[in-house]
Amino acid sequence: TATIIDGKAVAERLRAGLAGRVAALPFRPGLRVVRVGDDPASGVYVRNKDRAALAAGFDSATIALPADTRESDLLALIARLNADPAVDGILVQLPLPPQIRADAVIEAVDPEKDVDGFHPVNAGRLASRQPGLVPCTPKGVMHLLREAGARLPGARAVVLGRSQIVGRPMLQLLLAADCTVTVAHSRTRDLPGECRRAEILVAAVGQSELVRGDWVAEGAIVIDVGINRGPDGKLRGDVAFAEALPRAAAITPVPGGVGPMTIACLLENTLEAAIARRRLPS
Ligand code: NAD
Repeated sequence: TATIIDGKAVAERLRAGLAGRVAALPFRPGLRVVRVGDDPASGVYVRNKDRAALAAGFDSATIALPADTRESDLLALIARLNADPAVDGILVQLPLPPQIRADAVIEAVDPEKDVDGFHPVNAGRLASRQPGLVPCTPKGVMHLLREAGARLPGARAVVLGRSQIVGRPMLQLLLAADCTVTVAHSRTRDLPGECRRAEILVAAVGQSELVRGDWVAEGAIVIDVGINRGPDGKLRGDVAFAEALPRAAAITPVPGGVGPMTIACLLENTLEAAIARRRLPS
């Protein structure tokens, strides 16, 4: 039976390490989270981000704007944050209301302050193996794989999902770690067959328990990025956890796996952005 990878504990250790590094700086790295409207799910995320950032010694604040904010006003706010020397990281919480184009907003953020790693410049840097800011969730997955003792060079890794925020950067990071990577998605012909070849399986599709136990190879390391709320109100992953448990070597639970790592990596990115921007030795 699989080792359960305790993402909460790994994230706590990562945050404690970051807090120590922040305490040693002559300034507090600045993070601004911008929220437009009152999407309840993002409300929880934003509060958790703020709390974790403050606890680790960051200068963090949330800027809440009304749901009917005009795109031009949001862009003007981002321009002010870009120009503010005390701000190291800017995160605009998605989704945005329909009158605002998410692409325009993402591209307005200074790539050096883009702690979500969503700006095309940072996506391009990742794909061209240049240093840059890497999206938080796939970065957290890499931490968990190392924590689980995964031997990455040469390993067959399968990523389920090809989104801009998880699947694609996940492909780049696994490739940079010398895995042999397959990206499977909604048009993949034989999803179970692709999964069964995986020594490392990362599921990021947003379909509750899509991955069945018999899709998981004996001894695989399974990282479940999915967060799906069922009709019963319970959170489930993209992997049928109880079925996969006896076959996998290691597996992340939902909740308590990848989720806590995302926020920890946001803080890590903010610290990295601060050090790079202020030209301090890392
Ligand atoms: P998305 O909807 O943008 O992308 C989903 C991807 O999965 C697409 O590329 C699509 O091709 C693929 N897909 C969808 N249905 C499929 C199917 N039946 N078979 C094969 N492939 C299929 O989603 P996303 O933003 O990448 O998020 C994926 C999941 O991860 C969601 O559950 C989301 O809530 C979760 N998530 C968690 C965190 C975290 O912090 N843990 C962060 C981001 C996203």
